[in-house]
Amino acid sequence: MARVLIVEDDSYVRSAMVADLTRRSHVVRTAGTALDGIREVSNHPPELIVLDLGLPDLDGGQALKMMRTVTTAPVIVATARDEEAEIIRLLNDGADDYVVKPFSGEHLAARITALLRRASPGSAPAAVVAVAGLNIDQARREALLDGRRLDLSRREFDLLAYLAARPGMVVSRRELLTEVWHQAYGDDQTIDVHISWLRRKLGETAAR
Ligand code: CA
Repeated sequence: MARVLIVEDDSYVRSAMVADLTRRSHVVRTAGTALDGIREVSNHPPELIVLDLGLPDLDGGQALKMMRTVTTAPVIVATARDEEAEIIRLLNDGADDYVVKPFSGEHLAARITALLRRASPGSAPAAVVAVAGLNIDQARREALLDGRRLDLSRREFDLLAYLAARPGMVVSRRELLTEVWHQAYGDDQTIDVHISWLRRKLGETAAR
C-alpha cells in the first residue's frame, strides 16, 4: 500500500498503530520526537505522515510547519483537542487531514486510504471492474450482472463499485460510511439496509 511514517512519542500508541497499519500492508517507520521525524523524512521519504501534536521536543504547530519545509507528502495530524479553531489552524499550517485522539485503527486506515487516493490520481480505480459475473463501468455508472443491466440507485451503485474494486477484502461499515457515504459518523443500520437491497438486486439470499 504505502510507506507511512508515524511520529508519536507514546510507545504504546505507536506500537498499536504500527501493528494495525502493517496488518493492512503498509510499510511503517516510526519516530518518537519531531526532530527524529524530520530526520526520518529526509532519510526515508514517506508517502504519508501521521504526526502526533503532543511531542516532547516541539510544539505541535511548529513540528507541522517544520515537516512542511522538508516534504510535500500528505500529513495527518493526531490531536487530542477537538476544537474547531485549533483544527482550522492546523489545516492552514499544512495538515491534510486530522484525527482526534483516541481514534481507532480502522478510522486512521480509512483516512490514509482516502488521502493516498487523492494524492495519486494515477492510482484511481479502473474504469471498468469485472468480478465474477459482474461488470461495473464507472464512467457510465452502469453495472451488468451476467450481461443483464442492474437497476441500482446512485448509492447502491457506489456501494457495489466500492466493494467490487476490493474483491476478497474485508471492508468495515466505518470504511463504507467514510468512503461511500462521505460521513464521519452514522448509523450502521443504514449501511445494512443498503447492503440487503443490493444483495436482493444481485439475486443473493442472506444465507449465501
Ligand atoms: Ca504525544
